[in-house]
Amino acid sequence: KPRLLDDEEGGVLFLSSSFSSSSSGYGYASIERQRQRLPVYKYRTSILYLVESHATSIVVGETGSGKTTQIPQYLKEAGWADGGRVIACTQPRRLAVQAVASRVAEEMGVKVGEEVGYTIRFEDISNPDATRIKFLTDGVLLREMMDDPLLTKYSVIMVDEAHERSISTDILLGLLKKIQKRRPQLRLLISSATIEAKAMSDFFQSSKRRQVSEGEELRPRLEPAILSVEGRGFNVQIHYVEDPVQDYVQAAVSTVLLIHDQEPAGDILVFLTGQDDIDVAVKMLTEEARSNGKNSSGLIILPLYSGLSRAEQDLVFSPTPKGKRKVVISTNIAETSLTLEGIVYVVDSGFSKQRFYNPISDIENLVVAPISKASARQRAGRAGRLRPGKCYRLYTEEYFVNEMSAQGIPEIQRSNLVSCVIQLKALGIDNILGFDWPASPSPESMIRALEVLYSLGVLDDDAKLTSPVGFQVAEIPLEPMISKMILASNELGCSEEIITIAAVLSIQSIWFSGRGVQKELDEAKLRFAAAEGDHVTFLNIYKGFLQSGKSSQWCHRNFINYHAMKKVMEIREQLKRIALRLGIVLKSCERDMQSVRKAVTAGFFANACRLEAFSHSGMYKTIRGSQEVYIHPSSVLFRVNPRWVIYHSLVSTDRQYMRNVISIDSSWLTEAAPHFYQQQQQQLNPIIH
Ligand code: ADP
Ligand code: MG
Repeated sequence: KPRLLDDEEGGVLFLSSSFSSSSSGYGYASIERQRQRLPVYKYRTSILYLVESHATSIVVGETGSGKTTQIPQYLKEAGWADGGRVIACTQPRRLAVQAVASRVAEEMGVKVGEEVGYTIRFEDISNPDATRIKFLTDGVLLREMMDDPLLTKYSVIMVDEAHERSISTDILLGLLKKIQKRRPQLRLLISSATIEAKAMSDFFQSSKRRQVSEGEELRPRLEPAILSVEGRGFNVQIHYVEDPVQDYVQAAVSTVLLIHDQEPAGDILVFLTGQDDIDVAVKMLTEEARSNGKNSSGLIILPLYSGLSRAEQDLVFSPTPKGKRKVVISTNIAETSLTLEGIVYVVDSGFSKQRFYNPISDIENLVVAPISKASARQRAGRAGRLRPGKCYRLYTEEYFVNEMSAQGIPEIQRSNLVSCVIQLKALGIDNILGFDWPASPSPESMIRALEVLYSLGVLDDDAKLTSPVGFQVAEIPLEPMISKMILASNELGCSEEIITIAAVLSIQSIWFSGRGVQKELDEAKLRFAAAEGDHVTFLNIYKGFLQSGKSSQWCHRNFINYHAMKKVMEIREQLKRIALRLGIVLKSCERDMQSVRKAVTAGFFANACRLEAFSHSGMYKTIRGSQEVYIHPSSVLFRVNPRWVIYHSLVSTDRQYMRNVISIDSSWLTEAAPHFYQQQQQQLNPIIH
């Protein structure tokens, strides 16, 4: 088993590489040796040559081959960070940014935030004077473009995990291609596990025709180079279920217990979809382990999803003690973004949470949906890093062969584009439909986004950003609807309250995740519940937290997540700074919750719903698209069912559920968005259909 090296060397964690030629690979390899064993190491010279001589290089390599952790270091060693320049490496996921930055800092023997730093939204652990390798989310890099459109401080930008085709990655690629025309010295390195490398290469190829100018010979070649890093893991035996499973959480739990019972040592990685089903599985397994005594002892059961505390993350990455077996139950973050050591068995539910957007109904939600064959192969591959492994697919072989799609759909083709459009507009890209996308979004989604932004007062009749509202909304690093709500709170005299609400809405949940404490959690919620809805409930909780002296015991007693509350405080401070910069006066409306509700309406009027008359089942219809929706059981308005509500987001399981709901007065809708709604004979109608 991997273990800690002696303390004399600083207690650095040395894990031997699974790619080592000697099978007794676990040893006290120096960190240098370890780096040299990674498959990318053989390609070090080639990679550096490609970056030197090509404007864009594409590196394709198996997960775990060392792309993310090694290439930025190679670039630095080769001098790309000299003279105050910075090497950037983007990731679609925040958790991956943090984990990778701390790993690279550890390998380089430096502190995170100095030579190696990272930036995610609301958390900047970098030092402009010292940081030479910077990990950041692709979204943050997009934001940096607003201040520095040519990203002049970066010498090389590595766009990592490009195969994920996250919406920000695609926007970023389109923009970087433009930047390169203006700043040919900039090098791009696109890296991914399973890219359709050819498609990416074609995308960058089409920038070939351009003006020839002086100094041409100094310029790198423009056609992209593709490099494939060999280094497959070991064989993975695939097992399918014979009949489709009814409940994949239950099936996953049973499979883990079976593996633990029958298979030799080796850790297990389970792919479920999100915090909710992962928490359920953790609880079920923990209970099994307890009641089963002997059989399931020795299991260390850990969840892995974004929003975990630092300590919880560290547990996932720390080596498994001898005689124990680690079970990590993860979202698809462990599919390619993160490498866990010691995994020999993979259990694949066949599902992940995916964003889907319907431009007709203008509804975007997160749906548990089947993964693609490409994802299924990636997931299976996680089992073969250490030695030959096994993958248990909780779906039939027939299903895999005949029903699973080959590739996923790029996120930009299944998302609401409001944030995307405003960002491009803020960067001066006016012809959004004509923008050079790696994958084009649908014109319907574009038009929907333009309509909403127009109604928010962010765009004018010529689809240009309005001044000041449009520019201000673009400046706030939040969804445009939240930003608009903050701006409206200034006029309504409730900016203190709205900033608190915005901070709470920016994190996943402030409640303690309910592992078998549903009843207590519900009771705790009642203590804070406000008749107006969830947003006002957040204000009560925040007030209680402050009055307790920000006490962790108080949080514990009330089933509130203390770390989440601390995060809310941090985000709130940052939003306050941004608000002040935008000239917003910080003011509290004290008990006037009507102002707060009106401010929410000013941002989220498009999410208004009406309770169906005579509906005893609590069925609402969206005003805009007449879609059936229900209040989520986690909302304080569940079963209260006020006539008019506005929701913050939708989740879809058996039904479409509204999360974070506030009651409103219908007259506020026409007031807040006269372009959007009109009052006709006591009936409120959307103008735009
Ligand atoms: P890639 O980006 O190609 O998927 P990485 O650079 O992320 O690969 O990982 C290379 C190797 O570094 C992994 O095989 C693993 O051995 C090691 N590694 C990466 N992250 C960690 C970590 N947080 N803890 C321990 N080892 C790690
Ligand atoms: Mg990687």
